[in-house]
Amino acid sequence: DHRLQQELLLGMGGVKALRAYQKLTGTPAPEVFHTNEGHAGFLGIERIQELMSGEQALTFDEALAAGRSSTVFTTHTPVPAGIDRFEAAQIQHFFEAGLAPDVPTSRILDLGRENFHEGNPFVFNMAVMGLRLAQRANGVAKLHGEVSRGMFSALWPGFDHSEVPITSVTNGVHVPTWVDPRISKLARERFGPDTELTGRWDLAYNVSDAEVWALRREMRVSLVEDVRRRLRAAWKKRGAADAELAWTDSVLDPDVLTIGFARRVPTYKRLTLMLRDPERLKALLLHKEHPIQLVIAGKSHPADDAGKKMIQDLVRFTDDPAVRHRIVFLPNYDIAMARTLFPGCDVWLNNPLRPLEACGTSGMKAAINGSLNLSVLDGWWDEMYDGENGWAIPTANNGASADERDDIEAAALYELLETQVAPRFYGSTVSEAAGAAGPSESSHEKIPTHWVSMIKHTLAHLGPAVSAERMLQDYVNVLYRPAAVSGREAVAGSYAQSKALAAWIAKVRAAWPQLHVEHVDSLGVSEDPQIGDTLQVNAYVGLHNLSPQDVAVEVAYGQAADNDELANVTLVELEAKEELGNGRYLFAGSIVIDRSGSFGYTVRVLPKHDALASKAELGLIVNA
Ligand SMILES: *Cc1c(COP(=O)(O)O)cnc(C)c1O
Repeated sequence: DHRLQQELLLGMGGVKALRAYQKLTGTPAPEVFHTNEGHAGFLGIERIQELMSGEQALTFDEALAAGRSSTVFTTHTPVPAGIDRFEAAQIQHFFEAGLAPDVPTSRILDLGRENFHEGNPFVFNMAVMGLRLAQRANGVAKLHGEVSRGMFSALWPGFDHSEVPITSVTNGVHVPTWVDPRISKLARERFGPDTELTGRWDLAYNVSDAEVWALRREMRVSLVEDVRRRLRAAWKKRGAADAELAWTDSVLDPDVLTIGFARRVPTYKRLTLMLRDPERLKALLLHKEHPIQLVIAGKSHPADDAGKKMIQDLVRFTDDPAVRHRIVFLPNYDIAMARTLFPGCDVWLNNPLRPLEACGTSGMKAAINGSLNLSVLDGWWDEMYDGENGWAIPTANNGASADERDDIEAAALYELLETQVAPRFYGSTVSEAAGAAGPSESSHEKIPTHWVSMIKHTLAHLGPAVSAERMLQDYVNVLYRPAAVSGREAVAGSYAQSKALAAWIAKVRAAWPQLHVEHVDSLGVSEDPQIGDTLQVNAYVGLHNLSPQDVAVEVAYGQAADNDELANVTLVELEAKEELGNGRYLFAGSIVIDRSGSFGYTVRVLPKHDALASKAELGLIVNA
């Protein structure tokens, strides 16, 4: 109830506050509304209330069409438990009390109802409402877009997952907040005061290896000092006396490969994966030639017992005097801590259970500071790992049990650290770097040239890609601009388009159950079709009381698999050729066979209207 009240306040109160602000300051009304996850989702209801009670006195369906046109919904989690779901009765309680007096409560309840395959009809699902109140939707990384299209596919029955209208915009991080001041200072001094504005991350290549390496060490030293301070404070809080804490002054070594791992600790992030084989971890920490040291920070939700247990396990390991100079756990991870952590670490570790990390941003913060990522190919890393900007921990999601999977992935992590990451940091694989460094032996001076080249590559390539500026550009191009255009069209001429669209949708929805593809035939191909042959497809479709302009009749063709499914599908729209009476029409068109192998095709009918943003928008389709 408390959570619901917060969300009602945020969404409905948020719009009211915005209107008061507009009035007070003369600020123009916003044209696009963007709801991140369901939290502010009720803003859509408040806007419907405005439109129904305003001068235009729109109907619910007209107001819904108008509101949707200028609303964007972003889903942020591939974990179903991460989505807010309330009992429908709770929602009913608040709206029947008059929160949106002109909006029928039953229509509000319908917006969040899980009235689809495997849904719970007594639940009000905030993400489902978000998707129904927004004409455009996205996930927060490419992989998350794909996962979301699968996760919400029940809302678009009959469509292939790839056609579910949820796109993706990959998150980014605010560079001025997260880049170390020493990096910005170097950039300004070397390349001019405007460097930060121009986003010329490629200038990293113009900085000498020695200077990059020296700066990385400086940042590592700051982290080591900060960790010692925090560790001392944490032990004192646990009741230790100063005299017992001399050892904290020599915790961590400013010349040892430093790996950072910090997170809230929901179970899917697997805080303790590295403890899977404690002896193996110990060997890595204490390795004679190429040791590693680990700085771990975490914060668990007070109600999350599994999270708290993981933290306890970790603390127990780090308390061991044999390793406590090489592995540190810092409680109460927060932004201040994060800001020394990212620049000071050479490697940023992330090992979630793929694909449960929607995007992840901590690795992005590390990258803009020249830390290399060592991560499972999940979230943003799945699309941005390129082989030279860090390492990919392989995933074992091919039917292995959770335990086996942890074993396999932990083993892969140890192996990477031992054979790839650590040797490269200490420059022990000199031959690998010879090409980049040139043959001169004296030029090495213990600078691991391959490592430094990876740092420069990371800055040059990931810098622009992970910045919030790139993200915002993507939102503008992919979602905000189209939503603003639709929104203006919806409003024009006293909401003429919204009114027409609402009436059209009602007509189409009523007619849809009667629609059917009666018969499909084809002409022009012999027993043995050859590449280049043209196939004429005729579809006889019963449209009930709809007209051919209301629909798109498409032929989908591609490779026919054994299970009758089509792969590598191409779509071609057929044209209405002849009215056959009784609402029946002949649609026809031709396709050219452009591939060898078993060929198959099918015909489908979808609603078609200029004001729809995607073919799947209404969730209506008739497959032959
Ligand atoms: C960046 C950050 C997070 C989020 O990290 P993810 O990788 O996106 O989970 C959480 N807490 C703090 C303090 C952060 O700086």
